[in-house]
Amino acid sequence: MTNKQHIIDRFISYVKIDTQSDPKSTDTPSTKKQWDLANKLVQELKEIGLQEVTIDEHAYVMATLPANVPHEVPVIGFVSHFDTTPDFTGTNVNPQIIENYDGKDIVLNKEKDIILSPDYFEDLEQYKGQTLITTDGTTLLGADDKAGITEIMTAMEYLVDNPEIPHGKIRICFTPDEEIGRGAHKFNVEKFGAEWAYTMDGSQIGELEYENFNAAQAVVKVSGKSVHPGYAKDKMVNSMYIAQDFINSLPRMETPEHTEGRQGFFHLSSINGDVEETILEYIIRDHDKTHFEARKQMMQDLVSDICSQYERDCISIEIKDQYFNMREKVEPVMHIVDLAQKAMEEVDVTPIIKPIRGGTDGAQLSFMGLPCPNIFAGGHNFHGKYEYVPVESMQKATEVIVKLAELTARKYE
Ligand SMILES: [Zn+2]
Repeated sequence: MTNKQHIIDRFISYVKIDTQSDPKSTDTPSTKKQWDLANKLVQELKEIGLQEVTIDEHAYVMATLPANVPHEVPVIGFVSHFDTTPDFTGTNVNPQIIENYDGKDIVLNKEKDIILSPDYFEDLEQYKGQTLITTDGTTLLGADDKAGITEIMTAMEYLVDNPEIPHGKIRICFTPDEEIGRGAHKFNVEKFGAEWAYTMDGSQIGELEYENFNAAQAVVKVSGKSVHPGYAKDKMVNSMYIAQDFINSLPRMETPEHTEGRQGFFHLSSINGDVEETILEYIIRDHDKTHFEARKQMMQDLVSDICSQYERDCISIEIKDQYFNMREKVEPVMHIVDLAQKAMEEVDVTPIIKPIRGGTDGAQLSFMGLPCPNIFAGGHNFHGKYEYVPVESMQKATEVIVKLAELTARKYE
């Protein structure tokens, strides 16, 4: 349906532009270079023939594809982000195209002996015979989420070129700074004006997600009493030992390295301490809201317990919620997931519905009043040099968008 070379060319034109975001900056966008791609996207949207193409002072790009049916159809949206992760360089991305992939090792970089191998990345096996786009082993690729942008852009172009396909009004938005958790922060939901939307920001073909973690961070402060070690009997309080008690009192198996699926965890992400003071940093994650609250309570109770063992307030905790599971916002409008599932099935993609072990911009948007499940963009091994994307997966994602537009229009006929 969609031209393969066209998708490849479009995708490569995006990944060649460095758009790495920066968590240390407080500006939006966090890096000036994100404007380079944002401005190009504005230009392209206009060339394709979309309307109400806007870019605001924070580089959020929005556009409209007007309805082509006379009846009322809810406005739906598609969202993706143009920044890439600060974890790995996105400067001078030099994509390689592997046609008719033979299922064997792919040498990304001969000189540095960097190999993308199905022995380690088993997912590669399912793409035998397809066209893969990889890195040259020195940068990330940026399929996260320039694949999503490619798909949305190509789907809109396709709908413009094929007016016989019925669709309601469609809104699209490309955001900065998703990778530093701020993609939704300056998102003007009201201006966007969609009833619901989809982020095109998942990984492998078929992924459809509407559940993510509830998330909080906790900082535990333990204070001790430093005294000369030679004269410390009954006087010294070593904050590190109290901190150790705290750590050991939490369930040892409920940690990231021992959990999967819908299992939640406590993650001790750092310890900093001496006799006088120790600081523990945790993140708390759970899909289930009740379990999530119970985890936070457990930490609070533990702090009270330890305090009561000592004469003074030697330990305190501060817990801050970070984001919540979008499931509670999506479940009341479950037809938006059903539509996505049906769209996939109609273009021969098997939906893989699973909970995200993390957050998404869609979760934040859902709580801002725009229910927003996540659909695959097709890439694998995000945030590093082994990132790759099968072109056929991008084609399928494009078809899913087109089909979603059509199914939504038909549903409200
Ligand atoms: Zn992403």
